[in-house]
Amino acid sequence: MKIVGIIGGMSYESSKHYYERINTIINNKLGNLNTAEIIMYSVNFQDIEPYMRENNWKPIEEKLCDIAKKLELIGADIIVIATNTIHKLADKIQSSINIPILHIADCVSAECLNQNVRKVGLLGTKYTMTENFLKDRLAKNGLTVYVPQSDEDIAEIDRIIFKELCIGNTESTSKEYYINVINNMVKNFGIKGVILGCTEIEMLIQPQDLEIPIFDTTQAHINSIVNYILKNI
Ligand code: GLU
Repeated sequence: MKIVGIIGGMSYESSKHYYERINTIINNKLGNLNTAEIIMYSVNFQDIEPYMRENNWKPIEEKLCDIAKKLELIGADIIVIATNTIHKLADKIQSSINIPILHIADCVSAECLNQNVRKVGLLGTKYTMTENFLKDRLAKNGLTVYVPQSDEDIAEIDRIIFKELCIGNTESTSKEYYINVINNMVKNFGIKGVILGCTEIEMLIQPQDLEIPIFDTTQAHINSIVNYILKNI
């Protein structure tokens, strides 16, 4: 079985779902005592997040390139970066190793295209919503991507991720806030689906909360990891 190297801990609240769901799906498919072969390097997010806030990405890049190299060295066949935001550094990390990265934007794009949904909203951290690293990759895959336009919405969506979801808090007022933002994007831009472009948002928003389909990057990433493992047995 191929070995999956996961760079996790950003946050732990979402990385734990990767470990649990990959193994559950693999066991359901293969039966007996089968589970996935996974090496997870889970960082201390407190060592990372302050640099993000200062927009000082070099120390993060150095640390994550080093981790990816370690995962390769001890046998990983593929690297998974278990957060959307850190895909800002995906090209740098890729160029430091000789094994592929399973890019989260490609995984979620495939699910949108499978359902023939091309006009999508994207929610995530302020980095993911305002910078181009994820949006460009989604657009290259054939999607037209919209993000919330008001600075206030972007700041509040980002605050909820870091101050609540990343420490496992789901508040009903925050849920309402997200639903409102998404419904406004349906009204203003005519989006036909919404990408939960942050690996914690699925804790807050479920398919039954909305009239348009949800494309959750966490589950799309997990589904692609499972497909990769099963295809390469
Ligand atoms: N896990 C989140 C994401 O998918 C946000 C935390 C982080 O910046 O890593 O973007």
